[in-house]
Amino acid sequence: MVVAVLLAGGSGSRMGSERPKQFLEVKGKTILEWTIEAFHRHPLVDEIAIVSRPDCIEEVKRLACPYPKVRKVLPGGKERYDSSLAAIRAYREDGCRLLLHDAVRPLVSERIITECIEALDSYEAVNVAVPCTDTIIEVSDEGIIRRIPPRSSLRNVQTPQGFRRGTIQRAYSIALQDPAFQTTDDCGVVFRYLPDVPIRVVEGDMQNIKVTYPRDLLFMEEKVER
Ligand code: C5P
Repeated sequence: MVVAVLLAGGSGSRMGSERPKQFLEVKGKTILEWTIEAFHRHPLVDEIAIVSRPDCIEEVKRLACPYPKVRKVLPGGKERYDSSLAAIRAYREDGCRLLLHDAVRPLVSERIITECIEALDSYEAVNVAVPCTDTIIEVSDEGIIRRIPPRSSLRNVQTPQGFRRGTIQRAYSIALQDPAFQTTDDCGVVFRYLPDVPIRVVEGDMQNIKVTYPRDLLFMEEKVER
């Protein structure tokens, strides 16, 4: 079974609007609905779960009504990884494959979703990434360059990130024992705590943006098809 998990538990403070960004409307639908649609129409996705802020669950359920593949709306947590964990804990079935996706990446393509699902035939974990166009520097707390990794080997990470359920569950159960645990994505947890598990990288695309700033809404408006 392939389950798409849409992480919609954040507040989107960088957008500067009062409503969480997943509920902002573009061309007559919320960003969350556009994202649901991308997975709902994909023939290899069996089921969709949405992780929501606890105070928005009723609204999410209402928006999800027209999409029968949406079977669970779960309350998320304080950090993004708390929201991922809510979904991982809700699916206990062996053989379940989870695609964890930022609900604010509505422009994910059918090709990316297909390649992530297919990669899980051979790999336990998969990430989506695009080549970096800028040079990336690592900076010390004092504002001094510490490292300049070669750009040709660097990628910007997108979502979905896909996992065989047992693998991501195992990674988190080790991570949660670590008092210094912190992460901004789910592949990072497998990478750190299950270092022997190779994580396959699928080519993303520049259109698969995480809607973060007001200008991203204009980009989305140009790209979505009503
Ligand atoms: O904050 P960030 O840009 O990493 O958020 C990426 C996605 O994770 C967003 O779709 C956001 O709603 C979701 N998120 C979540 N629970 C949190 C924080 C973020 O589901 N506690």
